[in-house]
Amino acid sequence: MSTSVSETDLQSQLVLTPHPLQRLGAHAIAALAGAAHPEQVTGGQFDVVVARMISDLAATSTVAKGDPGWYLLGVSYLVWPNCALHYASKRTVEGITAWRSMPPPDRWPGVPCMLCGRAAVAWYGKGDIPLGASVEHRNTTAPGHQGTPLCWPCVSSFHALPYACAAGGGVLAGLHSWDERFMARAARTAMVHNRQAMLTRGDLKRGGGAFAVEFTALQALRWWDKRLTDGVQTVQFSNNNQDQRFQVEDLDQPLAEWLRSTVRDQERRAGFRYLAAAQATAKVRGLRMLAWRAFHQPHQIPTRGVQWLRDHSADGAIPAAAPLLAPLIRSYLTEVLHVLDKDVGHVTTVAGRIAEVITESGHLKRFVVATRQPRDLKSWLKKEATDWTRTRSGEGPFIDTVQWRVLFDMGNTSWSARDLLYIAVLEQLCARGWNPKPDDDTVLDDLDFATLDIEDATEN
Ligand SMILES: [Zn+2]
Repeated sequence: MSTSVSETDLQSQLVLTPHPLQRLGAHAIAALAGAAHPEQVTGGQFDVVVARMISDLAATSTVAKGDPGWYLLGVSYLVWPNCALHYASKRTVEGITAWRSMPPPDRWPGVPCMLCGRAAVAWYGKGDIPLGASVEHRNTTAPGHQGTPLCWPCVSSFHALPYACAAGGGVLAGLHSWDERFMARAARTAMVHNRQAMLTRGDLKRGGGAFAVEFTALQALRWWDKRLTDGVQTVQFSNNNQDQRFQVEDLDQPLAEWLRSTVRDQERRAGFRYLAAAQATAKVRGLRMLAWRAFHQPHQIPTRGVQWLRDHSADGAIPAAAPLLAPLIRSYLTEVLHVLDKDVGHVTTVAGRIAEVITESGHLKRFVVATRQPRDLKSWLKKEATDWTRTRSGEGPFIDTVQWRVLFDMGNTSWSARDLLYIAVLEQLCARGWNPKPDDDTVLDDLDFATLDIEDATEN
């Protein structure tokens, strides 16, 4: 078989494919090469990185479990089962190099790489590729074939996964995004941390506290100074013989961008500390719970903030945090949950009337209690509407049918509308001269905020 020079050259040229794990690995190789983007890695740099990965494997191959430097050997069981490191006869520099060397062109299979379409250099199986990938990425082996055809740069990207992903809890976890600049930055940070783990750690225990994977995403957003053009994902996987896993969690672009801009903005951060405190559970601190909810229950974040305000106004006084927290919750509802301007208008009108009757009666507490259940809020509004019609017949209805529909008959939108109603009433009471009570002894999540603020040493 004749192979042109250019085809061989392509075998040291990284490209990005739609496979998230290939992309993570390609960005890790770029980070190891000191390049800004995988496609800017020169052939020479690529070869140096491949050699460096081989020497890292050689260094870990003889380390005893628990001793510093064992970490990468431990990772090898998660990502490359039955690789050269796992057999005494192959656990040598020669054995590892043989595993990690491109087959000569006369042995190439003559088929395209399944991921990028360039010439494949061999058929690869689960010894090199994590097979647990989701259905659209799953490598189904055709009958009679020995695996999946891949080019050398694509299989090398899989080989670089331990530099992109941190091990712990039986999986490797990394941060992925289709925003290439953010992705490159996140991969650079991950590479520095994971290289450090390879040099120093003797175990695969997950560090970093509760919801470390989601918290790492929040940390990455904290130190990114450009608008995100796409969402952020956590990718967790294992290629272990006993337990294949592949799990992707999404943080959509509007929420990722809201979190990024909020944690970076000194003014918004003041309210964000309370919003974080509002997320805390008996077992998990607020900021970590917020990071987890951002991926799993984004609708809950403002609702918990409103619940917190409600709990802190149970005595009938406005909490000190309200002027900071209310505008932040409002921005979440409009920027992340996309509550429409016209619905904001409807809710604001009703909130104005509610604030008026509360100011007249002086009773905030009854409204606070009524907002705990939609049913109770409906009863409270009906009663106030009756009184309103009786005493102010010339001023229009207390609440009209469109406003009622927005608050109660539009599913999740109504949920958000009721959250908005609560903060809008507090805001309008403040505008009418109600003063928030002095600050109470709210416990703020300073420990995790301090962690979030540790500046990323990989900043260029
Ligand atoms: Zn390829």
